[in-house]
Amino acid sequence: MQKFKEIVDRLQAKRAVSDEEYKILLQTKDEKKQAYLHKAAREVCQSIYGNGVFIRGLIEISNYCKNDCYYCGIRKSNHHVSRYHLNKEEILSACKQGYALGFKTFVMQGGEDGSYDDVLMVDIIKSIRTNYPDCAITLSLGEKSKDVYQKYFDAGANRYLLRHESVCENHYAKLHPSNMRIQDRVQCLWDLKEIGFQVGSGIMVGSPYQTLDHIVADIHFLEKLQPQMIGLGPYLPHKDTPFKDEKKGDVEMTINLLAILRLMHPQALIPSTTALATISNDGREKGILAGANVVMPNLSPVEHREAYSLYNNKANMNAEAAESLHLLEARLQAIGYTISYDRGDYKKEGEK
Ligand code: SAH
Repeated sequence: MQKFKEIVDRLQAKRAVSDEEYKILLQTKDEKKQAYLHKAAREVCQSIYGNGVFIRGLIEISNYCKNDCYYCGIRKSNHHVSRYHLNKEEILSACKQGYALGFKTFVMQGGEDGSYDDVLMVDIIKSIRTNYPDCAITLSLGEKSKDVYQKYFDAGANRYLLRHESVCENHYAKLHPSNMRIQDRVQCLWDLKEIGFQVGSGIMVGSPYQTLDHIVADIHFLEKLQPQMIGLGPYLPHKDTPFKDEKKGDVEMTINLLAILRLMHPQALIPSTTALATISNDGREKGILAGANVVMPNLSPVEHREAYSLYNNKANMNAEAAESLHLLEARLQAIGYTISYDRGDYKKEGEK
């Protein structure tokens, strides 16, 4: 226990430990050790962000996708999906509903859907920017050219979520068809940063063929990238994908990784993800108690929520639903937290 505590303390102080030590932290299942790691992480988070958890309204704008990622339920080759995309009016109406509920960030996420050309997307972003000048606009629309990202930024978008999924070329290639390359995804992240977006990246924990070495490489990649946001969730199988029989990710390891990354990135905005809330009834709470400080309730039109099925049984109602913030508040209060209705931008080190 003493040795374990020393590793955690050193990670907190130096924001780095050895690769072998990362693996020890990742694998720990001992309750007391986990409690120590998670407490250190949540205290670091609380010292910067307090006990408020930021909320982001997640609008899943389209489940059309040109990509064929082997893990994802809305991949192009899945012909069982009933496809939809929201038009400008539907997106603005979701924002209106969200704003009335108190959201100050709208996240537009979707598959890589070519029907939103640059002109349309820029028009949508500009309209949201004009109607809600006090809100942040986050995009999660996959890989685009730098030029297109710049147009989105100039139109008023502030943040971009693009998980790198796995920085190791051989592992990335096991998760994606050969037309997708980790180099391209990493280039997108650097482009986004250079443009001035607050950038989010991350991985699925327990994705097929992932080893501890891969996760350690991902830790190092995030250390280099210094993203403002970090998204992590357990891998969860989807019945209509090539990975349907693969086993799901480990909730404990996901939370340990979350705590490690919190200690390394004290100011980061880290969501307790829907995948965590899906895998375990108290997954959302576990994430927050290990240092997460964001949740992303679903603000998509209710009639389309089931169709945005990235994995089996994806949670989208109750405390995961934007219209039920009172349920979320009750669950947060039960663990000593509360919803923060602030816009919740990234705080630079030393910033009040
Ligand atoms: N097209 C966008 C949004 C992808 S969906 C993009 O490329 O960024 C958002 C995230 O959901 C993905 O980055 C992936 O990490 C996660 N995801 C997809 N399928 C999943 C699955 N089966 N289990 C867990 N997470 C999954």
